[in-house]
Amino acid sequence: MEKILLVEDNASIIKGLTFYLKKEGYQIEVAKSAVEARKQIMNDIFDLIILDVGLPDGDGFEIGEEVRRMSQVPIIFLTARDEQEDIIKGLSIGADDYMTKPFSVKELHLRINSILKRSRKADAQMVKVSGDILIEITNNKAFRKGEMLDLTPTEYKLLNVFMDNPKLALNREDLLRQIWDTNESFQSANTITVYIKRLREKIEDNISEPVYITTVRKGGYMWDVEVFRR
Ligand code: CA
Repeated sequence: MEKILLVEDNASIIKGLTFYLKKEGYQIEVAKSAVEARKQIMNDIFDLIILDVGLPDGDGFEIGEEVRRMSQVPIIFLTARDEQEDIIKGLSIGADDYMTKPFSVKELHLRINSILKRSRKADAQMVKVSGDILIEITNNKAFRKGEMLDLTPTEYKLLNVFMDNPKLALNREDLLRQIWDTNESFQSANTITVYIKRLREKIEDNISEPVYITTVRKGGYMWDVEVFRR
């Protein structure tokens, strides 16, 4: 079942959309604020995000930008604003579509369907390969020597950040910024050390002599194997 994150603070829109999309066979998670949205995005993997621009504690565009830094998940912006400038901004961030309120739930549903269909097709060929590690972007699954890796959402994101930046020294702060929102201080640089250790245990043959994630000077790390996409 495809999972959609609805980021919206308007109760009647939440109620209407949740009811309709559930009936159509989608799994819906709701975030009513920017803070909630960031939490959900950090802890879960979605097939599509519907993103309201005007949130009580922030701007949907900012969240859209943060999402784009780490994933190509389809985004539909939902907003009361219909200024040309806002539409251009939304699309330039990399949104897949844009709907202005008031909108028809049915029309939104049709757009969701066509975007998901497109992304399923595009993702079908999207694979990242590096040594014995393979990521199927479609299914958000990672494999090592043909066997599926049992990764948490954070480990999976971390693996993707590394494989998207091969041969590049990344310090703990870079990694923190890629994986969690920088404005939230509940994650410390030491947390990264712990995640790296866990990820190495899952992908390296010998964690004391890592081949994929090597340690570089000044507390940094590097994905040390070439990455191919096909
Ligand atoms: Ca709103």
